[in-house]
Amino acid sequence: MLTIDGSQGEGGGQMLRSSLALAMVTSTPVRLENIRANRKKPGLARQHLTCVNAAAEVCGADVDGAAMGSVELTFRPGNVVSGDFSFQIGTAGSTTLVLQTVLPALLCADGPSSVSVEGGTHNPMAPTVEFLQRAYLPLLGRMGPTVDVRLKRYGFYPAGGGRIMASIAPIQSLRRLELLERGKLIERKVRSLIARLPRHVGERECSKVLRSLQWPEDCAEIVATEDAASPGNTASVELRYQNVTEIFTSFGERRKSAEHVARDVLPEVRRYRKSEAPVGEHLADQLMLPMAIGAWQGTGGGTYRTLDLSLHSRTHLDVIHKFLAIETDIVDFGNDMVEVRIHPTSTVPTTSVPANSG
Ligand code: ATP
Repeated sequence: MLTIDGSQGEGGGQMLRSSLALAMVTSTPVRLENIRANRKKPGLARQHLTCVNAAAEVCGADVDGAAMGSVELTFRPGNVVSGDFSFQIGTAGSTTLVLQTVLPALLCADGPSSVSVEGGTHNPMAPTVEFLQRAYLPLLGRMGPTVDVRLKRYGFYPAGGGRIMASIAPIQSLRRLELLERGKLIERKVRSLIARLPRHVGERECSKVLRSLQWPEDCAEIVATEDAASPGNTASVELRYQNVTEIFTSFGERRKSAEHVARDVLPEVRRYRKSEAPVGEHLADQLMLPMAIGAWQGTGGGTYRTLDLSLHSRTHLDVIHKFLAIETDIVDFGNDMVEVRIHPTSTVPTTSVPANSG
């Protein structure tokens, strides 16, 4: 049985989610120790426990240690079976992260699936639904499968109560992805999402971001909704290029001014605009899993250019290497740009720059 020490590297929840995903895809029993050891409250929180239970349901796994606060877990996967699934987190925990846990297995399953997840739809430290829809899924689609995610109800901290619904058309094996350049800029948007909040919050956020970026007023969009269990707010900047869409998001909270929320989104946007890399920090760690699975299947993998890798991404790569016999090379170009190459063990990397791995 494979053992993953959850205190290594970043020591967060991604190690758990990716271990579950890879255990399912490769039919590898896994034991996780020191789960989320580097977080303030280590062990399984409600979102992580839902991930474990969801993964167990999708593949009929035999599980020990699936309890709130548990720091150890044994997961023996059975066969992945497609179907209609419904998972409830029970808090504002991230629905998108639960979906991303079972998605890799269902991408390669024997038939189409639908997955409904209830909880938070717009959480700090997790992809928002719009990020999945407009940034992540189009790139996943280029690897072959068709995944459609719909927002059924908004869910914010602390009430949760949101719901997403995914439909997944699998593919036998994943294809390569090459993403070296952004291509031409097609559209730029500043979007303020206001749920059960006054419109001036959205107006102030948009105008602050527009002024800071020196963009014209027609780049702004306010999305207002009453369909949420609690008030909630995000400010996001979307850059749509020919080859990639990137979305950067900051989150409102009680006693945080609209101007403060607007200010919080700017550093990520500025860093991305300063670099030429097509893939931003979060997309970088999320692309690794499907590309690595594709490389392991012998049909996929590929290459992308991104910003200097975060500890999160490096830890993610380490976990992936524990499960899959594949090769990855990270080539540093300087100026906050690296090239990530993910390929089957026997293939030679495609570009001519010498690799300095790690
Ligand atoms: P913890 O480590 O406390 O268990 P966690 O389980 O919520 O936290 P992390 O391990 O931090 O998760 O992983 C968070 C995931 O969400 C990563 O894939 C990261 O790229 C993604 N993410 C975080 N913030 C954003 C964002 N603003 N936009 C898109 N994706 C994001």
